[in-house]
Amino acid sequence: MIWTCPRCRRQFRSATKYHSCVHIELADHFSGKDSQVRDLFDNLLGSVQAFGPVQVYALRTRIVLQGEVQFATLTPRKHWLEGTLWLRWKAEHPLISCIEMHVFRDYVRIFRLTSPGDVDPEFIALLHEAYMLVVLAPHT
Ligand SMILES: [Zn+2]
Repeated sequence: MIWTCPRCRRQFRSATKYHSCVHIELADHFSGKDSQVRDLFDNLLGSVQAFGPVQVYALRTRIVLQGEVQFATLTPRKHWLEGTLWLRWKAEHPLISCIEMHVFRDYVRIFRLTSPGDVDPEFIALLHEAYMLVVLAPHT
């Protein structure tokens, strides 16, 4: 049962889920940023959309990528694209700078993309895994 918030159009599994109900234009995240930051975003989005349905929500501080539930976030910076993704194991990759323990989603990976060549098949595979994990999760 998917519930769509009437105010911000985000979709959730239940109507009670707390969220920051703010609608920001996607383009606002890229104003004042290097144009390549938008290219990095578009390329990455194209890659994850090959996995299946992906919703994109522009929140105040980040852009959420959601399959059934969110599996990654992206935050455009001046010269690079920062992001997080959730995995259930301690995957390592040159793009992953930091790993944080998270109460509900196990390991949060923090990554930074600075050039299109940064995204290699291994990294796409990690994104795919994050996407599939939340799809398979019984409830979050
Ligand atoms: Zn809302």
